[in-house]
Amino acid sequence: MGLVNGRPYIDKGRMEPLTFAFLKGATPAEHETVLYDDRYELIPYDEPADIVAINTEIYTARRAYEIAGEFRKRGILVIMGGCHTTMIPKESLEHCDTVVIGDAEPVWQEILDDVQSKHLKRIYRGSLGKSKGLGPSEKIWTTDYSIFEGKSYLPVRLAQFSRGCQNHCEYCATGAIYKRKSYHQPVHELIKELETCGRKLIFFVDDNIVADKKAAKELFTALIPLKIRWFSQGDISFAEDPLFMQLMIKSGCVGMVVGFESINYTNLKQMKKNCNLTYENYDQLIEKTRNAGIFIWAAFLLGYDKETPESIKKTLDWALSKKFAFAAFNISMPYPGTEYYTRMAKEKRLLFNGNWWLHDDYSFGASAIQPTLCSPEELSNACLEARMSHSSIRAILSRSLDRKTHMKDIRNFITYFLYNPLFRDEMKKKHGMLLGYRGSA
Ligand code: SF4
Repeated sequence: MGLVNGRPYIDKGRMEPLTFAFLKGATPAEHETVLYDDRYELIPYDEPADIVAINTEIYTARRAYEIAGEFRKRGILVIMGGCHTTMIPKESLEHCDTVVIGDAEPVWQEILDDVQSKHLKRIYRGSLGKSKGLGPSEKIWTTDYSIFEGKSYLPVRLAQFSRGCQNHCEYCATGAIYKRKSYHQPVHELIKELETCGRKLIFFVDDNIVADKKAAKELFTALIPLKIRWFSQGDISFAEDPLFMQLMIKSGCVGMVVGFESINYTNLKQMKKNCNLTYENYDQLIEKTRNAGIFIWAAFLLGYDKETPESIKKTLDWALSKKFAFAAFNISMPYPGTEYYTRMAKEKRLLFNGNWWLHDDYSFGASAIQPTLCSPEELSNACLEARMSHSSIRAILSRSLDRKTHMKDIRNFITYFLYNPLFRDEMKKKHGMLLGYRGSA
């Protein structure tokens, strides 16, 4: 993302950038490929290359444009894709030769052919959903993990079953991109990839792995013989059905990232977080999840209109009382292309000229909107305080004595005690960092 105190930020908690395993899987073997990961290694700009592909997220966009600029100065074609480029392709087009809007796999071969015939177009539109003509059991993408050989990441393999989500929360980029649709890889194809993926700990990066319960059941059943341990992301509805949860456990589920977002009903309603609105409170579902022995990584979105420093403290206390294994206290950020961004613009509440991700003065952790009941600084400070408090040594120790989850077995115990401090240190290091390298790379 950028600089910490004038020096490159090295992300110790980095996981494999799965996008590049998909691109590698879509690239015919005749082409030589190499991956450089700006999160921890220097990019050899002068190494000969025909094309450079860069994936963008909003926080990395500024840095991605700098990298693109270096390659273009050397006459190398740069292709950009990813979530941010898909949301605002016009901006990315100012910094690269070609953009891919949507999923890249269906158009990747065409791009490579066009590069060879020197007819590369400015814009390619990948599908946002299953490619036309594919039958229900045909493979949608191939994951080729060989691109990560020799690289250094946390010892967990990333994989993906589905893309998209049937919900449409106001602030969510996934919701805006996939427009309430989700689709998934045929189960038998994913199982084949997992059998040879070389690891037994898997993180399914799906936006909401339990959105389509029927498909999820099929997947979980097929995972049982693999004897893997996995975690993923999804809404809390999985805890409603005891049989469904039993199947999750049987298939090796260790934990789920769950977006509670807010404990205030008005905020949830404003977010259009409909999948959470049906619950009067989450108490029973959380208890059932704990009893089943599933770790919860709780995610909160702080900064909607009823938020104050006091309500954030209340949210922190609630999270501590629920003994979540991990918790992320995120500031609600307006992503361009989302309904939230449009609303904030209409209400004239966008800070940093409405493009905080490129703004010289924006630093990680700062609010990019004007909250209604407190100042942007109060919001930012309260979020930092919540992050630090939840992962303080005292808090980690005080919720560690839980035989149902954190102390269930030695592997859970190690995960809990290793990841909490790592997460805290990374958040602390990142808070206040400037995005981009400001020409000092
Ligand atoms: S449930 Fe999650 S993935 Fe789905 S739209 Fe809402 S925030 Fe996005």
